[in-house]
This record gives sequence, C-alpha cells and structure tokens, in this order.
Amino acid sequence: MSTLEIRELTAEVAGKPILNGIDLTISSGEVHAVMGPNGAGKSTLSAVVMGKPGYKVTGGQVLLDGVDILKLPTWERAVAGLHLVMQYPTEVPGVMLDAVLGEALRDRGRADDVARLDSMLRSEAARINFDEKFLERALNVDLSGGEKKRNETLQLAVLKPKIVILDELDSGLDVDALRDCARRVMDATREDNLGALVITHYSKLLEELRPSRVHILVKGRIVESGGPELADVLERDGYAAFSSGVESDDVSGDYLAGL
Ligand code: ADP
Ligand code: MG
Repeated sequence: MSTLEIRELTAEVAGKPILNGIDLTISSGEVHAVMGPNGAGKSTLSAVVMGKPGYKVTGGQVLLDGVDILKLPTWERAVAGLHLVMQYPTEVPGVMLDAVLGEALRDRGRADDVARLDSMLRSEAARINFDEKFLERALNVDLSGGEKKRNETLQLAVLKPKIVILDELDSGLDVDALRDCARRVMDATREDNLGALVITHYSKLLEELRPSRVHILVKGRIVESGGPELADVLERDGYAAFSSGVESDDVSGDYLAGL
C-alpha cells in the first residue's frame, strides 16, 4: 500500500506563480481525476511532482510513503515508484525502447523482469493492440500521437510503478486507442494495485478510466472535490461555474451543496 500526498504545494514558472496551494492524497488502487480548463496548471502539477527542470517549488511538500520526494532527482522519484505519462511524449532518437526499460528495471533491482523483457513487451503490446513493429523503434520516434500514447501505456505496464500521473492520456487519441489505453491502466489498478492521478479536461476519458474522486483545478487551486458525479456536473455546466469563487477568499465553497 502506497500513498502520494501533495500538501499545500505552491510553485512558479518563469517567476510567475502557477500552483497556488494544492492538496491531494492518492493511494494504491485508487483512481483520482484532476480536471481543469486550459492553463489551469495541470501539466505544471505533473511537472513539479516529477521534478522537471524550470519549475520552482515555493512551498509545500510532496510525500511518497512519508518521504519528501521534492529533494530527489527525477530518476530517483521514478525508482521510488512515481511515473508520469506525459501529455506530449518526448521523442528520443537513437535510444531504443527495450534499452530504456531494461535500464529502468535494473535500477529497480528487477533482474528477473530484465531477463524476460522481450516476452513482456510482446504480451503487453498485444494487450493494447500496439503493433510489434514499433517495439523495434527508437523511443517514440516516428510514431503518431495515438501510437505514442500506446507506447507510454506499454512502458507503464512493464514498469509497474506505485503511482502514475497521466497527463491528458486522451489528447491525440482516437476512440479505439483511448479505450485500449484507459482499460490497461484500469486493469493495472486492480492487478498491480496502481494508484492513478488522471489529468484531463474532458469527461469522456473518465467513462473508461473510472475515478472514485474528481478534483477541479482552476488557476492553480483545487476549487472542488467530489465523487464521479462531479465530472457530470462539469460536462453540463462547464468550468465557468467553478471559476467564480477563485478570486475570493473562499475557494473551497461546496458547489454541489448549492445545487
Ligand atoms: P494546463 O496543463 O492546465 O493546460 P499548464 O500547467 O501547462 O496548464 O500551464 C499553466 C500556466 O503556466 C500557463 O499560463 C502556462 O503558460 C504557464 N507555463 C507552464 N509551463 C511554462 C513554462 N515552461 N514557461 C512559461 N510558462 C509556463
Ligand atoms: Mg496540460
């Protein structure tokens, strides 16, 4: 059982405050959604949690099983069990997928999995309808948007982190790829007890990747948290309904109670 705790996290980019006090706790086997309009700070949150250069933490803590990971370099955060599926997966020419995963598994002390990596890759590829020919490519190079997301999902399935942040898994995906990727993540929450923080601005993804909690992020703050029904409210009313309280002191007003 693992827990990622984000406490009063504030961060800035290029001297501009973007995260204004985020509190979120997610444990093994849980799916939480973070929904918010463009520019709300969703990708910034994922970047800060993973330690992407250029993002300055100005306050708060991020704890994985009680250990403050903000002091660790990105690769140590990953070895500790955090994983990010990026909104725009990076292409890494010259570096093969199996080389990356082999190194990552070695760093995690999983020699048995290194030995059977080839068969793991093939069975995982089949599971998400990812063409085996892509396994021979350099990381994400010459893949379409949808193929990149399948490739990222495959890496997630092989590495089996404790907690994953999926930053707009749905962007650039057609419905078939969306279903394949979302179902694989959902399976991992049951089979491997994966905890998933699902960032999206559309509720469509959440029809497959079903969250127990939904949090609404506006202007760098969680302005509302609730059950899955919150995504339906959002679908109906849009983000505007949640934005009105952001400038006032009371950003935690219970929107649903007022319906
Ligand atoms: P979201 O993912 O919710 O659409 P982002 O986290 O990408 O939002 O961006 C939040 C805000 O931070 C935006 O105003 C964006 O322009 C700014 N921002 C994010 N990353 C950078 C960066 N590397 N340099 C400058 N501004 C950034
Ligand atoms: Mg984003």
